[in-house]
Amino acid sequence: MDTIQMNLSMDAEFLREVEKESGQNLSLCYQCGKCTAGCPYTTFYDIPVSQIMRYLQAGQKEKILSCHSIWLCATCESCTTRCPNDIDVAHVMDVLRHMARREGYAPEPQIKTFWDSFLESVQRHGRVFEMGLMAKYMVKTRRVFTDADLALTAIPKGKLGFKPHDIVGKAEIAKIFERHNEEVNS
Ligand code: SF4
Ligand code: SF4
Repeated sequence: MDTIQMNLSMDAEFLREVEKESGQNLSLCYQCGKCTAGCPYTTFYDIPVSQIMRYLQAGQKEKILSCHSIWLCATCESCTTRCPNDIDVAHVMDVLRHMARREGYAPEPQIKTFWDSFLESVQRHGRVFEMGLMAKYMVKTRRVFTDADLALTAIPKGKLGFKPHDIVGKAEIAKIFERHNEEVNS
């Protein structure tokens, strides 16, 4: 088991940033473990979600932002609904993933590439264009036959269009991305 040397690696500013961005009071977590007990992805996590909460309280920025768990989280919100202290744990995981992305951590590069491709698609078309998203993801990751069998099933059912459809409010959605990028780069 890792021993945390609090005096050496405590980053109080990181803790404050996560609390501010998530709107959650992380000191309320008393380590009951109910979030981890209900998390369907615990088996695949390198750090269980309740331990992430503990590492957060200890301001362990490097440990958390470089972990795989925050990228594997499915945002199912089971942890949030189970927490006896009403901490929105799933939102905290989301904030950590955004922080890791901003700061260049990508321990799960294929998941990050999928995210990036998804967001680029929404920015460009106002909503996700599935075929374009998958094409971009396959090219970037060189996983050419990823889910190709699913596409063969979805195309005849009309679930995958070959052209993007414009939506009302496309320009407004593009502005959300512009505003976000300005805030991140300011
Ligand atoms: S939101 Fe993420 S951390 Fe929470 S239970 Fe679901 S998969 Fe686990
Ligand atoms: S369920 Fe809530 S209080 Fe319990 S360990 Fe998870 S975050 Fe902490």
